[in-house]
Amino acid sequence: MSDVLYVNGRFTTTDERVLGVEDRGFQFGDAVYEVFKFVGKRPIFLAEHHGRMERGLGEIDIASPWDLTRFAAVMRELLERTAFDDGIVYVQVTRGEANRVHFYPEGMTPTVVAYSRSFLFPDAAAKERGIAIITTPDLRWKQCQVKSVNLLANALAKKKAQRAGAMEAVFVGDGIVREGASSNFFVVRGGRVITHPLDEHILPGVVRDQAIGLALAAKIRVDERPLRDDELFDLDEAFITSTTMGVMPVVEIDGRIIGNSRRGEITTTLQAMLDEVEARA
Ligand code: PLP
Repeated sequence: MSDVLYVNGRFTTTDERVLGVEDRGFQFGDAVYEVFKFVGKRPIFLAEHHGRMERGLGEIDIASPWDLTRFAAVMRELLERTAFDDGIVYVQVTRGEANRVHFYPEGMTPTVVAYSRSFLFPDAAAKERGIAIITTPDLRWKQCQVKSVNLLANALAKKKAQRAGAMEAVFVGDGIVREGASSNFFVVRGGRVITHPLDEHILPGVVRDQAIGLALAAKIRVDERPLRDDELFDLDEAFITSTTMGVMPVVEIDGRIIGNSRRGEITTTLQAMLDEVEARA
């Protein structure tokens, strides 16, 4: 059965071609997006994703098409219409469609699309095995707190990682380790968790926020501070966080083994805690 696509107030399937060629999302990357997970048709951290989308829309001067109540209602219907129980929903709001000129008309009607996709989340073995990552120069724009669809630098970095036999590329700028191409990045050293502070260099990840809250609840110290790239040579553990990967151990960075190539203790604790929170979400 087809996936379900919501577009500007109606439901269809992803087989239908629904967007105009002069939609500004297509022409200019003039759009924000979200990806949330659903399990047994339950959306996970829906309000958090909505909140980030609202902030992003505000920052790029697009009027929000829906408040949380309306968003939740549409997503509920989308999931009810979806044939499978577990997966992800991709949501995109663009500035809308207009003749292609850089200065956009005032008061445009945003284009809103959302569709469900089945997704194979990492199983227990994958979550124990962990992943290899590479580091790569941060070539993105300077407003990375906005979840914009301008993902060219991210896509190129991710491809570079894949060609190097790794799963993720972590951006380094001005000697500071920022975040992954589609994840936030954490290290553990001397029992403390370290991750980049919230600013324009990283996306405020929904799972990042959960991981920090869970670490604090487990009485683990969390330092939100810039991490120098030379600190990557002296780590006990590393992990990434994202909606699709959860808390995922990093066992190799640029070909160097981390923590004897095994998932670390704090990473394991946070994975178990996140599983519990998601089961209750
Ligand atoms: N950072 C970037 C650049 C991302 O694209 C993503 C997710 O796609 C994340 C971090 C993780 O965010 P979240 O935990 O909300 O999925």
